[in-house]
Amino acid sequence: MDSAAEPREYDLDALRQRVLLERGGERSSSIPQLAEADPDLCAIALALPDGTVHSSADGTVPFSIQSAVKPFLFALALADTDGAALDRVGIEPTGEAFDAIKLESDTGRPPNPMVNAGAILTCALVDGDSPDARSERILAGLSRFAGRPLEIDEDVARSEHLLGDRNHALAHLMRAEGTLTCSADDAVAVYARACAVLVDAEVLAVMGATLALGGVNPITGERVVSAEIARDTVAVMATCGVYDGSGRWMRAVGIPAKSSVSGAIVMSAPGALGAVVISPPLDEQGTSVRGRIAAEVLSADLGLHVFG
Ligand code: GLN
Repeated sequence: MDSAAEPREYDLDALRQRVLLERGGERSSSIPQLAEADPDLCAIALALPDGTVHSSADGTVPFSIQSAVKPFLFALALADTDGAALDRVGIEPTGEAFDAIKLESDTGRPPNPMVNAGAILTCALVDGDSPDARSERILAGLSRFAGRPLEIDEDVARSEHLLGDRNHALAHLMRAEGTLTCSADDAVAVYARACAVLVDAEVLAVMGATLALGGVNPITGERVVSAEIARDTVAVMATCGVYDGSGRWMRAVGIPAKSSVSGAIVMSAPGALGAVVISPPLDEQGTSVRGRIAAEVLSADLGLHVFG
């Protein structure tokens, strides 16, 4: 493209129709609710600085946020610890899967907040003197990013808690290392509830926009986190957000992003907009196959590559 297209006028339904032709990928089998997700759910949404949200068909179909919650958990942990969360969790990419049973060898810290170990820990760093209190505080914080009250899918939360054996293993390992101080089961319960928050493409795009726009929600005008926290969070999305596919993503798409096993990818294009693509079939790195294709096209057409 010679010049970037205007986001407001961009034909998101045409892009959706185009990526729906792609049949590759497999749905996550980690919990029954994801294994049974509609494989042809496909939505694309953009949230702009003027507070408008533009979406394709399926833009308001609900899904569980899963790992797309991790940037927001990191931001909330940074806010509640006055930045000290940066001493408790690393910020280096792992080159490994999201649920790898691995901590930093010299410190016992999780490698970064975008993998499961890191997100289990950031959930535990949010203020609250009980798991319920932390969970409530996380839901309230996520709702401020969204600009409307969000809810938890309790069935998904139960499945995540019951079936998340690797998450329980990670929590126990972090306790053994002294990096997690609450009970392992409580930590996984809070993390499971955070992954089970219901969003849709439109509202998740607003959450991504809030990070992209320096921590201010473009719909409510509320400052949700400081500009420094928003910047730090987007920086870690850029380096670690697509797990062992982060380098490939950064080259081809060039927008800081977080992938998830629900097939949602939330993107924060600094200073420009928030965007979401969701479709459940995943590639080997747990990234939505259609989402990746749509993100590449969007980035090119709208001129969003940060090194573009
Ligand atoms: N809830 C999922 C898990 O903990 C989230 C993983 C993901 O979306 N990549 O395994």
